[in-house]
Amino acid sequence: MDAEHELTAFVREVVIPGGPDAVPRIEPRHCRFRLAADLSPIHRWGIFADEPIPARRRVIEYTGARIDRDEVARRSVRTHLYIFWFGQQGALDGAIGGSGAEFINHCCDPNLYARVARGHIHLVSRRRIEAGEELTLDYRIVGGAPLRCRCGSPLCRGYMNKPWQPS
Ligand SMILES: [Zn+2]
Repeated sequence: MDAEHELTAFVREVVIPGGPDAVPRIEPRHCRFRLAADLSPIHRWGIFADEPIPARRRVIEYTGARIDRDEVARRSVRTHLYIFWFGQQGALDGAIGGSGAEFINHCCDPNLYARVARGHIHLVSRRRIEAGEELTLDYRIVGGAPLRCRCGSPLCRGYMNKPWQPS
């Protein structure tokens, strides 16, 4: 790695927030229910329900800095990513201005789904969620190197992405 490359990597890993030592902070104004951050059995940190949540309710908004396709590629050198793709328009990087939703872990049988409305991403409950349950989302990653999934669900697909099955 040359010096310029090394400095660029340093800036993205350390100066831009969201590095390996990032600790979740939940922004209550983006939450409709009481949530808590804690260590997760799935991966590092997770977000947990602190009270029961009925089905089909907005739970938390996914917020972050709006970035385009090129910037997603530039930031993807980070080891921990908090990027939510909108589609062609670009993405939100939850590492900057994130509501805490960026720490929600992937599960192949999740209890939340994402609903995009007027440029906002709301994470909505797929079913009733009990107090103390970890919130999860299907990241729906397509392509890239295989990412082993440790969600523990009986419906686990084994990988977080489908590198062999681009759609
Ligand atoms: Zn899984």
